[in-house]
Amino acid sequence: MSIRITTVESGTIAEELGIKPGDELLTMNGEPIHDELDFKFYTPGETLEVELYLSGAHTILEIEKEHDEEIGFAVQPMKMTACGNDCVFCFVDQNPQGLRKALYFRDGDYRFSHLYGNFNTMTNVGPKSLERIVRQRLMPQYVSVHSTDLEVRTKLMRLRKDDHILDKLHYLAENDIWMHTQIVLCPGINDGASLAKTIDDIYGLGPAVQTMAIVPVGLTSHRGTLTELKQVDKAYARKMIEYIFDLQKKFRKERGMNWLYLSDEWFLVAEMETPPEEWYDGFPQLENGVGMVRDFIEETRREVASLKTSRRLDAPRRLTLATATLASGFMRRDIVPLLETIPNLEVDLEVVVNKLYGPDVTVTGLLSGQCFENHFHSRAVTDLLLLPPNVLNEDDVFLDDETPLGLKRKLNDRPMAIFHGSWEEVLHYIDHPEAEMFDAKKMKLPVMN
Ligand code: SF4
Repeated sequence: MSIRITTVESGTIAEELGIKPGDELLTMNGEPIHDELDFKFYTPGETLEVELYLSGAHTILEIEKEHDEEIGFAVQPMKMTACGNDCVFCFVDQNPQGLRKALYFRDGDYRFSHLYGNFNTMTNVGPKSLERIVRQRLMPQYVSVHSTDLEVRTKLMRLRKDDHILDKLHYLAENDIWMHTQIVLCPGINDGASLAKTIDDIYGLGPAVQTMAIVPVGLTSHRGTLTELKQVDKAYARKMIEYIFDLQKKFRKERGMNWLYLSDEWFLVAEMETPPEEWYDGFPQLENGVGMVRDFIEETRREVASLKTSRRLDAPRRLTLATATLASGFMRRDIVPLLETIPNLEVDLEVVVNKLYGPDVTVTGLLSGQCFENHFHSRAVTDLLLLPPNVLNEDDVFLDDETPLGLKRKLNDRPMAIFHGSWEEVLHYIDHPEAEMFDAKKMKLPVMN
């Protein structure tokens, strides 16, 4: 077992020792190195024994260094492991054909959970990996629990045998590994008594489980012959909100926080305002869509309050905000009126329907380049068309691989940008559309420092 060294920094210990890209790392202090995390874990220390193949020759190097000094090379990036499950609600199965290969991969990797906050069911995590999480303190872990009721769990995740989820989480909790958990809620399957049991079981693991979030199942119009599932509707969402608000009273009393949260979609579907900032206790599951709406409203409120006095537009300007159906209610009620308090600014809100996944998919994050093109190609050009921030993936392309610049060209090169967190930058760009103020390729307005 060895891993490849990919780059060597100049002026470092690695370069001095003649280590080169392409060399193979075997062990550090006698411990086998399986991946980047092992490499990082064993790097700190004043003396290191590194076993490797240097230009093909088996070599052992004794290194003396400052405790936190880097050796100066990087190893091959980790490959994500597959989850091994077959959940009835899996979004991967509901993708239309022809998207990027990565979108058809069912990932489930505790290492990526620790590094990037990816949720993982832990079904593919055995005793050795659990022991590694504890030894290397790979926390927090983000765990998709869904249900602790074996019968429901088996039905929902189509498990072939008991995966002992509670035993695993208990072991991690006992060893003070912090966890954030989530339940994807499928009406009629893991709600009712099953939900009550799951909440109870996970809360009972103690404070190492820092939070739990409930998100509603997402269904697209590409389910074909897949198991029939119910969508969360307004009445169901309202009942769930009431139920969770009631449970939170006990958690707040005992742990000083709500502990159990609902993702934004519940409130948007229920046509209710999202709770105030305090309800979210510092937004511990923001990336999971828990509190994004409230955070966005409050950030906009704070920024606009200072912009109203500090910033004037040179002339009357018209801004077009693109959004999806689900967010349109709060955008119209909270964001547009706030922005229109800025002198000389008028705002149009355009609600884009999802042509790729079907009209039942109403979140902004699943709008493709094609959806925006269909919607805007015959619409009037304004001073700026602003797209939501979460429409690009980590490679800065839309779901259908369209690039922001490609879309801009297809829309006759109209002024367009992707919102990236700063209204001041939006105003600046409207006044100076010729300015080289953002990465033109990505069309991302930068966050102000
Ligand atoms: S664990 Fe996630 S990726 Fe894997 S089948 Fe279930 S929903 Fe899909």
